[in-house]
Amino acid sequence: MRMSNALIPTLRSTPAEAEIISHQLLLKAGFIRRGAAGIYTYMPLAYRVLKKIEGIIRGEMDNAGGQEVLLPIIQPAELWIESGRWQVYGDEMFRVKDRHNRDFCLGPTHEEIITDLVRGEVSSYRQLPLYLYQIQNKYRDERRPRFGLMRGREFIMKDLYSFDLNDENLDKSYKIMYKAYENIFTKCGLNFRPVEADSGAIGGSTTHEFMVLADSGEAEIVYCSSCDYAANTEIAACTPEKPKDSEELKEIQKVETPDQKTINEISDFLQISPSKCIKTLFFTADEEVIAILIRGDRTINEIKVQKIHPCNNLGLASEEEVQSITNSSPGFVGPVGLKNVKIYADLEVEHIINGVCGANEDGYHLINVNLNKDYKVECFADLRLIEEGELCPKCQESLNFARGIEVGQVFKLGTRYSEALNATYLDSNGKKQIIHMGCYGIGVSRTLAATVEQNNDENGIIWPKTIAPYQVIIIPVSVKDEEQVRLAEELYKQLQEKGVEVILDDRNERAGVKFKDADLIGIPVKITIGKKTAENNMIEYKLRTEPEFIEVNYEEVVQKTL
Ligand code: ATP
Ligand code: MG
Ligand code: MG
Ligand code: MG
Repeated sequence: MRMSNALIPTLRSTPAEAEIISHQLLLKAGFIRRGAAGIYTYMPLAYRVLKKIEGIIRGEMDNAGGQEVLLPIIQPAELWIESGRWQVYGDEMFRVKDRHNRDFCLGPTHEEIITDLVRGEVSSYRQLPLYLYQIQNKYRDERRPRFGLMRGREFIMKDLYSFDLNDENLDKSYKIMYKAYENIFTKCGLNFRPVEADSGAIGGSTTHEFMVLADSGEAEIVYCSSCDYAANTEIAACTPEKPKDSEELKEIQKVETPDQKTINEISDFLQISPSKCIKTLFFTADEEVIAILIRGDRTINEIKVQKIHPCNNLGLASEEEVQSITNSSPGFVGPVGLKNVKIYADLEVEHIINGVCGANEDGYHLINVNLNKDYKVECFADLRLIEEGELCPKCQESLNFARGIEVGQVFKLGTRYSEALNATYLDSNGKKQIIHMGCYGIGVSRTLAATVEQNNDENGIIWPKTIAPYQVIIIPVSVKDEEQVRLAEELYKQLQEKGVEVILDDRNERAGVKFKDADLIGIPVKITIGKKTAENNMIEYKLRTEPEFIEVNYEEVVQKTL
């Protein structure tokens, strides 16, 4: 690439709208341009980096047995109604209508569509395990799109879905993916840590997030220096807590719950500090939920309700949704279940919703749904934040706190989607069994930003070699000096012939400007061709990671660069 032709619009000053370093540098170095809030164009350099990251991901996914597909971005509402997520996904979902007024969404994730695909294509145990993945744009109407590519509303994700015979095999798939993720983030040159996490909206049980350590990270993690314990603080303290016993639940039932409460009132009522009101579920001894507290941008879909009864759907929905499910899903018996569920989303917003239960098989009438008989809630206890000074729940050593950027997450979904969408196979005895699923996401565009967040200095980006847009930049100090130009062109040609990705800065600019740009865009190797080269064959060879250049003989430089 010749710099004189390249679209690398570097800026002299730091754009004021960018709060964190990766966002500033990606704008300043001409890697990205904003289209709308949370929506970006990847400029030529960024697109090269993305393809490198994707290449690393593809390599690991294929190696693990994955097959790449490309699923539709536009997804029909029916599938989401079938899984029970059409309503609960809430405002984060971009919804669109076609000319016939039919509902669709722009895929925020692809569990529904892929489970639908697999239920149509897989029928025998011989076809499993099956790992399908894609690398594609995802759409989420984030409440606070920010930090450039970190939290976009349109962003690139790799998502793989595993389909297994049973839980034991799912466990194996999970381990394979976990390992592949470690390889991917290591190859990208990132300092990261896998942590135990909350399965949130997506359902399922075991899950880990891959966190890139950075002060600007939106997540807080704790880790132990003596053992392998590491967790997102969202869940860190919930594990050791005991469920409230029914005595206590009855106590709570006696307390009058007014219709409207603020977080402070509720925290008084629960006798916990407001900062700990992250998630608190209170069920009475029968099926009534009296209070669910969810703070900040956490939404109602994060409630973990686990069913015991063989019904297909147990979720939370508005009055309207209950009606629409009943009308639109044949075989869905109900609607009733949880009553008087009150959700306090945050200080201003309050949703009052109904619970719904249903079944796909005749005879499973779900009136008189009972807590602990038909369903149970995974955590009755306050899921409070772990605090400074608390000890590791595994080994009782002291814990360290850090901030992290979630670049990936692996989930064991179990039968959450396969059951709802009826994805089954016939086992070797010809008996129908439910497929066990896992899903594994990587934020590809976020990984690019996270790499910059971790690899930079006062002069700009420092790309790890594995994902750098180009490996080498050649800078002739003066393009007016014919000999310098000849040597630079010659070297450019030789490196290209050897397959090295190289930029020749052939612009008629001052050397200082070229050096500044080379550092800003972060090319790993900078080769300067100046007077010394023309006179005695010496070039200045500088690694972006090193403070000083070294002198290398012109003849040896190709060898050194390979
Ligand atoms: P977050 O907690 O940051 O909102 P998430 O847990 O909602 O992310 P997942 O559903 O686990 O995200 O999606 C898989 C991966 O996609 C995430 O680990 C992250 O790297 C990436 N990702 C999620 N949301 C965004 C976004 N708005 N912009 C860029 N990447 C994202
Ligand atoms: Mg999210
Ligand atoms: Mg998350
Ligand atoms: Mg996640």
